Amino acid sequence: SRVLLTGGSGFIAAHVLDILLQRGHRVVTTVRSQEKADKIKQAHSSYGKDKLDFAIVEDIAKEGAFDKAVISDPPFDAVIHTASPFHFNVTDVQKELLDPAVIGTTGILKSIKKSAPTVKRVVITSSFASIVNPFKGNWPEHTYSEADWNPITQTQAVENPANGYRASKTFAERAAWDFVEKEKPNFSVSTMCPPLVLGPIVHYLNSLDALNTSNQRVRDLMLGKGKEEIAPTGTYLWVDVRDLAESHVAAIEREAAANKRFFVTAGYFSNKEIAQVIEKRYPQYKDALPTASTPGGDYPPEGVYKYDNKRTSEVLGIKWRSLEESIADTVKSLQAVGA
Ligand code: NDP
Repeated sequence: SRVLLTGGSGFIAAHVLDILLQRGHRVVTTVRSQEKADKIKQAHSSYGKDKLDFAIVEDIAKEGAFDKAVISDPPFDAVIHTASPFHFNVTDVQKELLDPAVIGTTGILKSIKKSAPTVKRVVITSSFASIVNPFKGNWPEHTYSEADWNPITQTQAVENPANGYRASKTFAERAAWDFVEKEKPNFSVSTMCPPLVLGPIVHYLNSLDALNTSNQRVRDLMLGKGKEEIAPTGTYLWVDVRDLAESHVAAIEREAAANKRFFVTAGYFSNKEIAQVIEKRYPQYKDALPTASTPGGDYPPEGVYKYDNKRTSEVLGIKWRSLEESIADTVKSLQAVGA
């Protein structure tokens, strides 16, 4: 089929793009500049313009940003919307996090409804941020699933960037489901809700400083930043980026995925376990890594929430990669950019 993929320059989208192309889908991906398009094109030089093409969308927060991108010849069958800011380096939560997430999501749905009647499936990258209740802490007696929604409010959202990011994903996903309910579009929506995403980088990176947010803890351990104390793990659930990318593609290929939300997680991890895997698989980093007695980075003594990932395993057919495989491949990819 012919697929529009937004945010093709990103960590996760680069893997979605690879799987789409491997499966024979024809892809147009949006990026913010011609320079970014050229980098992706260079990395996929065996695919002609009919297989891989580009549309420039500079800012998804602009009203009508996707009006042109959704129109193509031949027309699109499916859209995968991954573009959304994921970093905490903001001074204005509303403008820098909430607007691109929410206006980006509702904007693309409106553009599709208005101008791309052949689109049957839309997959949106949401997050565990829209599932978790951040006010409940580790909540050991609770099992998170697709039934849970983050109760965060607009007032709490603008209090700090961490709240802002989680709210951006919550409000954007809610807006998507509200759109489906009110507008009754011609297409189905599926949302992917991953917790921390780890795994090899395949997108173009200017430097290690530009590494995507979720892989930074792996880089930081390799660079010796956990020697005195390991940073708190924060969220204790993770997924490998390749399994998440496979979930996105399975959701446009499988009828049963239509109009469902998916909690896409492989299970538990801690920062301490990441350090242990790096040492096991890459002993040359031993001197930079924490030792068995270094404090921090562990699970909380009271335990953590449970998770239910059955829907994703069963409906999308995902087999989960192990933390060891994921971290080993992440380290290898970071070595290639100078870690
Ligand atoms: P990246 O930062 O690598 O990718 C984000 C992408 O969104 C980039 O292509 C970026 O473009 C684009 N983007 C951000 N803001 C705008 C904007 N205003 N206008 C146009 N494009 C924009 O992060 P990930 O790959 O990790 O994130 C992809 C998606 O996955 C996001 O929706 C994120 O919320 C979600 N997610 C990620 C998790 C993780 O642990 N990595 C966990 C849960 C959800 P550019 O690079 O040019 O700025």
